[in-house]
Amino acid sequence: MKNIFFVIYTVIGFCLFTKKSFSQNFDTVQIKTHKMSETIYMLEGDGGNIGLLTGKDGTVMIDDQFAPLSEKIKTAIKQVTDAPVRFVINTHFHGDHVGGNENFGKDGAIIVAQSNSRLRMTKDEFDSTLKQTRKAAPYDALPKVTFGDSVTLHLDGETVQVTHVPHAHTDGDAIIYFKESNIIHAGDVFVRYGLPFIDQPHGGSIDGMIAGTDAILNLADDNTKIIPGHGDIAAKKDVADYKTMLVTIRSRIADAIKQGKSVDDVIAMDPTKEYKAGVGRSEFIVLVYESMKNK
Ligand SMILES: [Zn+2]
Repeated sequence: MKNIFFVIYTVIGFCLFTKKSFSQNFDTVQIKTHKMSETIYMLEGDGGNIGLLTGKDGTVMIDDQFAPLSEKIKTAIKQVTDAPVRFVINTHFHGDHVGGNENFGKDGAIIVAQSNSRLRMTKDEFDSTLKQTRKAAPYDALPKVTFGDSVTLHLDGETVQVTHVPHAHTDGDAIIYFKESNIIHAGDVFVRYGLPFIDQPHGGSIDGMIAGTDAILNLADDNTKIIPGHGDIAAKKDVADYKTMLVTIRSRIADAIKQGKSVDDVIAMDPTKEYKAGVGRSEFIVLVYESMKNK
């Protein structure tokens, strides 16, 4: 079983962390800018969606994709504001969200992250995907401000509430609520590619993902615009449907665990069948199963 898990995790890891960073030709990537309000934009390129708050107090960026895209991202930012990037808030530590940290950090941006995310960036860690040690991030890439449960920024006429959702996609996820503009950046707690990746080896869990969707739903009303970690701008209803999917699959797997079923039995039952695959079905089931068994 351990062996199967290792193989499956390797496959997922390869798809989500390494494929883009090694084989992707970033030269062909274009940064698309979506205006969401008078002061807030979403930038789409390759990797996690970027949120941008602009105004006279300086620019706040949520996530910064891959390092080779930083120049293109800076060009896109200059098209909507002359103000420098003052803060970069990381939604979590994955490379497709924080790969540009060093470049923006060197320019003087203060990087903000939940303390567990910073901790993961500061340490060499054996990466089961590459079967080698992932090196700690360089100094300029590291968050200079961390928080436990929450931190709030007050600038550009906006109250920016940054809240930790524990053990969701990872153990260091943050969701960001732009209060006056009624816009949420959900990080990878909410994605639109189908079955989400739950990074169980790095502290993620199905229960945390469901609690995280509740945190988003509690902030949102019918007019809220939601930036997912990946995919198109969404509404509260989309998050509610996504939560229903997670709750449905969770309860099927919980029943199977109660009946003493093995992970292979659960894969054979396929509790995900009516939902769109994102992460592969069996890989998703293994991660959910592990996150429930390990409680
Ligand atoms: Zn991620």
